[in-house]
Amino acid sequence: MPSDAVTAVKRGKVVVISGPSGTGKTSICNQLLDKLPNAVWSVSATTRPPRKHEIGGELLPGLQASYDYVSKEEFQAMLDRGEFLESAEYVGHMYGTPRGPVEKALSEGNHVIVEIEVQGGTQVAQQMPESIRVFVLPPTRETLEARLKGRKTESAANLKKRLAQADGEIAVARDSGYYQYFVVNDDLHETVAEIMDIIRKETETQ
Ligand code: 5GP
Repeated sequence: MPSDAVTAVKRGKVVVISGPSGTGKTSICNQLLDKLPNAVWSVSATTRPPRKHEIGGELLPGLQASYDYVSKEEFQAMLDRGEFLESAEYVGHMYGTPRGPVEKALSEGNHVIVEIEVQGGTQVAQQMPESIRVFVLPPTRETLEARLKGRKTESAANLKKRLAQADGEIAVARDSGYYQYFVVNDDLHETVAEIMDIIRKETETQ
């Protein structure tokens, strides 16, 4: 093979997974990462303080997704430098997807799983129309409430805020037209299989 031969790498795609907190998005993402050989996780920056089981910037054993925890000042500086692909405020805290690692992974032929809320999802849709956007729905509002309560990570006031936020998010996702797929997460195994089919279909037709 000539030394200057260039092996063309097929650019990967951003896969946005959105949905109200408590719909099982993180479990879905962890399974997708486990099952898709060429998928990587995008580590978000956030000003939210870490929950007990979270460690900054690393994946815990069992692939529990985590964040890069930054101060409000650091977040603002990253924003000012244009480092985010998208960013949003959610229940009083800032969240953002650093652009650099996403671009690098895509150019290396990897798909990037981005678990973000709807404002961020619409920004990704506008900047990367070729991305795949999936919105995960709870089977019912009652199951969502039960799951959030079961997590025991939220105070009663926060739980109420997150439920109100969930109603708003579902409405925005439906009305915006930016999500191509809505998936009801009744059974984790089936939901993951459904999203794998979507990714396969969307990436094979390119
Ligand atoms: P949590 O505080 O429960 O980890 O996340 C709150 C919400 O923020 C979830 O809906 C999660 O998907 C979303 N989120 C996490 N990282 C990002 C991000 O980088 N950008 C945006 N827009 N939302 C994010």
